[in-house]
Amino acid sequence: MIGLISATAAGAAARDRLAAAWPDRARVYDGPVGEAVRAAFAECEQVVCFLATGAVVRLIAPLLGDKAADPGVVCVDEGGRFAVSLVGGHGGGANELAVAVGDVLGAEPVVTTATDAVGVAGLDTLGLPVEGDVARVSRALLDGEPVRLDAEVPWPLPALPVADQGSYAVRVTDRAVRPADGEVLLRPPSLVVGVGASRGAPVEEVLELVERALREAGLSARSVAALATVDAKAAEPGLVGAAERLGVPLVTYAAEELAAVTVPNPSDAPLAAVGTPSVAEAAALAGGGELLVPKRKSERADGRPAMATCAVVRRPARGRLAVVGLGPGARDLLTPRAAAELRRAAVLVGLDQYVDQIRDLLRPGTRVLESGLGAEEERARAAVAEARAGHAVALIGSGDAGVYAMASPALAEASDDIDVVGVPGVTAALAAGAVLGAPLGHDHVSISLSDLHTPWEVIERRVRAAAESDLVVTFYNPRSRGRHWQLPKALDILAGHRRPTTPVGVVRNASRPDEAARLTTLGELDPATVDMMTVVTVGNTATREIAGRMVTPRGYRWQDGRTPQEAR
Ligand code: SAH
Repeated sequence: MIGLISATAAGAAARDRLAAAWPDRARVYDGPVGEAVRAAFAECEQVVCFLATGAVVRLIAPLLGDKAADPGVVCVDEGGRFAVSLVGGHGGGANELAVAVGDVLGAEPVVTTATDAVGVAGLDTLGLPVEGDVARVSRALLDGEPVRLDAEVPWPLPALPVADQGSYAVRVTDRAVRPADGEVLLRPPSLVVGVGASRGAPVEEVLELVERALREAGLSARSVAALATVDAKAAEPGLVGAAERLGVPLVTYAAEELAAVTVPNPSDAPLAAVGTPSVAEAAALAGGGELLVPKRKSERADGRPAMATCAVVRRPARGRLAVVGLGPGARDLLTPRAAAELRRAAVLVGLDQYVDQIRDLLRPGTRVLESGLGAEEERARAAVAEARAGHAVALIGSGDAGVYAMASPALAEASDDIDVVGVPGVTAALAAGAVLGAPLGHDHVSISLSDLHTPWEVIERRVRAAAESDLVVTFYNPRSRGRHWQLPKALDILAGHRRPTTPVGVVRNASRPDEAARLTTLGELDPATVDMMTVVTVGNTATREIAGRMVTPRGYRWQDGRTPQEAR
């Protein structure tokens, strides 16, 4: 929960905007400011104060405890111009909160923790448990001192500016080792512990078994991602309790699924009880991986039969492929989510001209694989291969990366051993539509006139269908140096079903510095004004030019008393 506190009318107005933007996350604390701050500090994970930093510093100073546990606090000034991350920048999430508050209120986020200031990922913000001297190694990263990355377990981390050698190290390991001097350990969630239990097995017995198995194998409990068992044991209190105590989910599988997993130590007892010859080993191995600890049983001091079994597997790292649309060009049309994904990536794959657009957003240390126009297959393959190697990859495209772009070739190459995240972008048709007015107010279609990968007959059939069904059409790739007859031909087909006065919008470089838009008609469009940086939007039979803008009516009766069909 995010606590919101204000003292003045202006503060209260800004506070209410935040509360309205985050109805499920934010809670307003009324009453005397001192009491409100103390209550919010005690009850919330994060606090936003619409108060001077000085006042907040004095109020929270006596409340500050441990930076790992204290809430993150953000202050917003009276004018609503700045959102200052005051305390808990990393652990308390105040830096991110300052950015989020800034987004809602139009305020500038003010972040002073050094790693964010220079764009290096804070080692404690990577989402993994950390051990060791975080402050010293972060400092070294910041100061540009050589820091090694020892990734014993591949894991899709964001970029870090690391070197091959150096006296500092970031070590990614699930082994039960202690951090050396100048070393930070990152604990990837790489271990899955399969567990089986007889009815009524005590939590302590399960927990002790799991902890001993990890300890004797030299593995860190902080790398355990989940306990896994058979569906029939989903509510077994000993397993549920052990998972809770370890702070991990209890994942379950159907008995048939487990029966199909090949295991070294099958037995008859579970087969009779739950219908699979192995629970612990099979559940641990169900998601793939390497068996580090074969099935073992709990030990009971009272000599009674063991009630729990466990087995430990190191699961394969799942790389992460983010397919990110950058929007049509303007930075403020690049979504915050796209920016976050670019900062989440360690490897960036894209066309060189798009990489240039966003280079400043990348974290230091991001590996960039850029290629020139054309090399689509190579880009798709490279992105997928990097993700399969366990890296965090962003594959970028202009507009929306799924529209006449890289998402489909990449996903056609990708197997199910990587995670894929898509971030939508503002595609050219929408960017151009906003420039022109409201041309897409009714049913519309996009058609690419590039016959590089699509035979002209197919394109022509689609244009014909659009013409006959009176769809508004946006042409992508309308014309290039070597390709000039297609656009006139396509317009000709549309002209067979629409009047020569039908409005046509031509938008070149939408949202880029040299943006140019022209409104013309089907009869008057000069194809020579169209090139590869352009989209051409042709209205339907109801589209009109109104006050210099292209408008396709939705057919509201209150506007003209007639339906679009009647209006024709
Ligand atoms: N993925 C992109 C489209 C790639 S196809 C998107 O979603 O927008 C390339 C074509 O898109 C270009 O030939 C042009 O027709 C169109 N295009 C892309 N960006 C444009 C922009 N900013 N202004 C006008 N047209 C654009």
